[in-house]
Amino acid sequence: MERAVVLRRFLMFAGCLLWSVVATAEWYTNEQAIMGTVIRTELWSDDPLTAAEAIRLVNEEMHRIDRSMSTYKPDSEISRINRDAAKNPVTISAELLELIARGIEMSRLTHGAFDITYASVGQLYDFRAGVRPDEKQIAATLPAINYRFVELDLVERTVFFARQGVRIDLGGIAKGYAVERGAGILRAQGIAHGLVSAGGDSRVLGDRRGAPWIVGVRDPRNSDRVVARLPLIDEAISTSGDYERFFEEDGVRYHHIISPATGHSASEVRSVTIIGPDATMTDGLATSVFVMGVDNGLQLIDSLDDFEAVIVDQHGRLHRSGGFLPPKK
Ligand code: ADP
Ligand code: MG
Repeated sequence: MERAVVLRRFLMFAGCLLWSVVATAEWYTNEQAIMGTVIRTELWSDDPLTAAEAIRLVNEEMHRIDRSMSTYKPDSEISRINRDAAKNPVTISAELLELIARGIEMSRLTHGAFDITYASVGQLYDFRAGVRPDEKQIAATLPAINYRFVELDLVERTVFFARQGVRIDLGGIAKGYAVERGAGILRAQGIAHGLVSAGGDSRVLGDRRGAPWIVGVRDPRNSDRVVARLPLIDEAISTSGDYERFFEEDGVRYHHIISPATGHSASEVRSVTIIGPDATMTDGLATSVFVMGVDNGLQLIDSLDDFEAVIVDQHGRLHRSGGFLPPKK
């Protein structure tokens, strides 16, 4: 073939390729049941292969985190810690060590409202089966709730429980951590607009191409109603609610957010939504503010740069942190 013809054909081919690339840029979404919740990934891409690979990597990461941090899996790292750490220091991965350290930091920040050792009592609840500890069992296990019993050796990479009966559970921050990791994976794959969510925790990348992402805060007593819509760009959002995992007995709602002071479900509010720059933080703060209640919770959020809160209290009333209030004239 003549060179000019070859060149022309090549250019036409390349032009077609370019056209098809531009023409197929679109949103890709995927949902998977992982970590006892729905993992949702949304992303904008001009290449179906890149999109599929990014989604695959996100889901793989969720499975990896679940294998390490699920207290339901007897062979997870966290289960191994809970079995052995009161007997001897247990060597753990740098990743888990860091996440436990972040849990302890959250305890300090919230004066113990957030406490991964809540599980010392929390493990006696089974919300699916409607099982709860009686007062005697709570009194016997409550003294083991105290994050100060969790001793980390950052050099030896070990964790040790300084008391018998201590159990830890990272459920209050693990999903936030997971979506933060997921968003990092999308970014590393060159994705500029995307979202990764795990139940009540979401992390958005960029905007929704020209407009912010809009995440609704649902009415805690009516899943069809939205009480607030929050516009987000490059941000994390977490909601903790008393409607996710609960059962009712004699008019009392037993749910999965436990006050470390009492061993009972926290009851001052129905839901807490936190937005901010990091999903591990928004997840932990949502759980914390749920335990702290409206006044102490909003005081904490207003003391932090970059974080805002929307709370639905036990009467269904809405409360907002300073950054969400209209400016004072
Ligand atoms: P989810 O997204 O699962 O609804 P939340 O962020 O609302 O989770 O946090 C609830 C989870 O946090 C519980 O399932 C439990 O694993 C853990 N948790 C409950 N109470 C506390 C507490 N006081 N401190 C730390 N973690 C807690
Ligand atoms: Mg949480």
